[in-house]
Amino acid sequence: MADLSTIENALQHVKARIHQACLAAERSSESVRLLAVSKTMAADKVIEAYQAGQREFGENYVQEGVEKVEQLTHLSDIVWHFIGPIQSNKTKVVAENFSWVQSLDRIKVARRLNEQRPLTKVPLNVLIQLNIDDEESKSGIQLEQLTEFAEQVNSFPQLKFRGLMAIPKATSTERAQQQSFQALNFAFNDMKRRFPSVDTLSLGMSNDLATAIAHGSTMVRIGTSIFGKRQA
Ligand SMILES: *Cc1c(COP(=O)(O)O)cnc(C)c1O
Repeated sequence: MADLSTIENALQHVKARIHQACLAAERSSESVRLLAVSKTMAADKVIEAYQAGQREFGENYVQEGVEKVEQLTHLSDIVWHFIGPIQSNKTKVVAENFSWVQSLDRIKVARRLNEQRPLTKVPLNVLIQLNIDDEESKSGIQLEQLTEFAEQVNSFPQLKFRGLMAIPKATSTERAQQQSFQALNFAFNDMKRRFPSVDTLSLGMSNDLATAIAHGSTMVRIGTSIFGKRQA
């Protein structure tokens, strides 16, 4: 077993898994980015991962995320991604503090992020979240709504439409899981053809990283395998 007792070792191990999955899928390792999901983890854990070379971090909760962004402004090359549900009364702090929003699923929120993104900053990178397995408990739009929604998102000047994000169901059968991943891959390729700014499929977490990479993921979002189990 690899020694996973430090965040640095755990990061190395995750990178090795990404590398293996890329080899198996005959893809280059550079085609998959690693997002470290630091939700519920204290800022010193983020610093530890930063010192091991990690630069992209994902947060799910607005208040917690903004606090960490503010605590760590001295690490000025960190790229912060917001990956949790957004209420429309929280859009301003998200537009001001994050570089990416991966969980866009309402036009009202897109409009507010566009209006509230400071003009002194580059446009906010956004991914549209798809609810690929039609789960009531999950955020995201339905596949059938995607084209129209994407056209609207793409029209906002302070947003840059970069692609899709999804959280496929963990408990379904392997066959059903493959179908969901395949549908996402298809939708991503369709978006790439229609919108030149699209280059990102955010798919894959600690448990389904390899399947996601086999189905074209360009960004895996990893929490547990880097930082260990979350308390909450
Ligand atoms: C928590 C979370 C992750 C990370 O999940 P792990 O299983 O801990 O790797 C990835 N994406 C989203 C949207 C999350 O909320």
